[in-house]
Amino acid sequence: MFKGFTRFLQSPGEHLKSLLGPQDAPGGSTGLRIIPRQEHPVSRQHFSDAALKVLYRLHNAGFEAYLVGGCIRDSLLGRMPKDFDVATDATPEQVKDLFRNSRIIGRRFRIVHVRFGREVIEVTTFRGKPGDDHGDHIAQQSDEGLLLRDNVWGNIQEDALRRDFTVNALYYSIADFSIHDFADGVRDIEARTLRLIGDPATRYREDPVRMLRAVRFAAKLEFRLDPATEAPIREHAELLLQIPPARLFDEILKLFMAGHGVDTFQLLRHYGLFAMLFPEADEAMAELPWAERLVELALESTDRRIAEERPVTPAFLFAALLWGPVQLRQAALEADDMPPIPALQAASQQVVSHQLQHISIPKRFSLPMRDIWDLQQRLPLRRGRRVYQTREHPRFRAAYDLLLLREAAGELEPDLGDWWTAFQQADEHEQRRLLGKVGADPAGSGVPRKRRRRRRKPRGPSGET
Ligand code: ATP
Ligand code: MG
Repeated sequence: MFKGFTRFLQSPGEHLKSLLGPQDAPGGSTGLRIIPRQEHPVSRQHFSDAALKVLYRLHNAGFEAYLVGGCIRDSLLGRMPKDFDVATDATPEQVKDLFRNSRIIGRRFRIVHVRFGREVIEVTTFRGKPGDDHGDHIAQQSDEGLLLRDNVWGNIQEDALRRDFTVNALYYSIADFSIHDFADGVRDIEARTLRLIGDPATRYREDPVRMLRAVRFAAKLEFRLDPATEAPIREHAELLLQIPPARLFDEILKLFMAGHGVDTFQLLRHYGLFAMLFPEADEAMAELPWAERLVELALESTDRRIAEERPVTPAFLFAALLWGPVQLRQAALEADDMPPIPALQAASQQVVSHQLQHISIPKRFSLPMRDIWDLQQRLPLRRGRRVYQTREHPRFRAAYDLLLLREAAGELEPDLGDWWTAFQQADEHEQRRLLGKVGADPAGSGVPRKRRRRRRKPRGPSGET
């Protein structure tokens, strides 16, 4: 499908340079620039059939239709577009009338999803300036400047200026295959720079998720943040606390499950954003010498699996992210004389309920996550039938993987993991021998050896336990 793609992969920079004439002074905004088909490398071969169908049907019905956002940005960078976003002057109702396989979604931001098999094309009507009085007041802003709703229709120029980054405001026209560049996005692609359109602090107040998007694109595209775009982030990080937990969950998946988790995590920590998403995990990283490493290792493994096109589950990642807080709370409960098993149960419960106030983790992920934690207490029990029951547990593999990461991060001495590795590879005879060995070794059936003893009396991360 992507014929001729490798040419752009090799030197997208060189190719783009030829688009920028010497007359273009760096930094000077020239307003709209239209780049004709013969002067840019983006061709219809880069786009899916579904995306082209949507564009042509809108066009043939007399509407304007453009591909916009990530798919044009990524095509210019020689990357395979992940999905396709269409912008049009047709209203959501008009779009819906044109496509049987479509539905209008969203309240805060109404768009149309047009479905072709497993592929979904997002069709968005041009937005105008939220401040404009369009009669029915369908844009709403909170006192802090947060955009509560954004359904004021506008023209393409207005639409471009309310997008987030210059590199995301590039429009590919299906009428003449030109690219419309409203905010010097091509220049910023060439300079590998993420620059917010407009005043950065205002744009972050309108939608604090843009701070997460800045970090996500910086990690994914290996772009730097323009200084003015970067400067207000730390100070505005707290605004993320206003974002509904369900929206943050979607963003978390895009941040951590897209193949660049380690870099993304480091940037989130650097800008103080991580603490707004996972406050207890952030505190645990200050208290426990292994907690940050454990998360890095979990993300490294997730990134590696994604690169190898192997399946990944958010349950495992959340289990690693929140294991530090679970351990702090469990230690505090045990210090109050609660036995280890109920202490882990109670600690898990507390950590999940606190985390849900920030990010809604659907049950289909939080239940397996808790199984993975419970199994951490069963893995050290290496006697008799229990071992086979543990081995047969549906979350055994994930729990074993977490155990290995705990050892690699320095929380535990690396002997239990080795034992389970050997046990899984062993035949029946050898398994019996391994079980016998544990029986003879009194340490083998007990709690795994902690690597470092913490001297401080453990306390609950928010001080209430
Ligand atoms: P990708 O799909 O590769 O993650 P993308 O840039 O296409 O990246 P989407 O979330 O699909 O990101 O959004 C499509 C486009 O919509 C963006 O390119 C941008 O122009 C605009 N957009 C999305 N979210 C926002 C936002 N919070 N504020 C302003 N514009 C946004
Ligand atoms: Mg997209």
